[in-house]
Amino acid sequence: MKKLIAANWKMNKTVKESISFVKEFEKIVNEKDVDIVICPAFTSLNVVANEIKNSSIKLGAQNMHFEDSGAYTGEISALMLKEIGCEYVILGHSERREIFNEDDFLINKKVIAALKNNLKPILCVGENMGQRKNGKTREIIQNQLKNCLGNIDKNQILKINVAYEPIWAISKGNPNHKAATAEDAEEGHKFIRSVVEKMFGKNISKNIRIIYGGSMKPENAKELLGMPNIDGGLVGNASLNAKNFAEIVQSAK
Ligand code: PEP
Repeated sequence: MKKLIAANWKMNKTVKESISFVKEFEKIVNEKDVDIVICPAFTSLNVVANEIKNSSIKLGAQNMHFEDSGAYTGEISALMLKEIGCEYVILGHSERREIFNEDDFLINKKVIAALKNNLKPILCVGENMGQRKNGKTREIIQNQLKNCLGNIDKNQILKINVAYEPIWAISKGNPNHKAATAEDAEEGHKFIRSVVEKMFGKNISKNIRIIYGGSMKPENAKELLGMPNIDGGLVGNASLNAKNFAEIVQSAK
């Protein structure tokens, strides 16, 4: 399966900085064998869309509202993202869950709305350290998948990319933060595939893309991406630097 490497810039990079990143990145990388997605802040979507229009890089957003329009001050809809050129949208990121109180049921509405508008969700799931220490990892992931993927037409499931992001492995901007070991990440991915199989059958579970997020960087990308059930990466901190992000993309080949 073709690997997906997605940059989650979070609340970083002004418009100017976004343009200069893409110009530098495009000089280093021209890679057709990997799906590359850049998810900038909303304010940079338009300029990044313009910069990448002649390349194979795809545009993604970091969040969206589940309605197409209406009285939702400060929100952005799937319809708006699609019009501006987005192909992907990150949904259910742990920072949205923890800081902005998003729960599985809200995320499920967003997944449904994204698919209705022809956006491909990157659906994040994963446990925190306390849950892991209490032996709850599988229960947490299974519930997140069941709830967030409820009421979705089987024919649409393969448009979804699941991102396994163990919260304890997310760098929060610290470049020295430790990622999950390749073995621990692989175990999480295998479990996710088994839950998807129970929900949607073997064919879908074999073909759904499950990507890893949490302190992926040039030093560990090859090992993580070499695991049989890891189909790509969602990259936060290391994606802010064009050379580092390019190295990660090359590791996915
Ligand atoms: C993320 O938060 O999606 C992420 C993967 O961050 P980082 O790579 O910085 O751990």
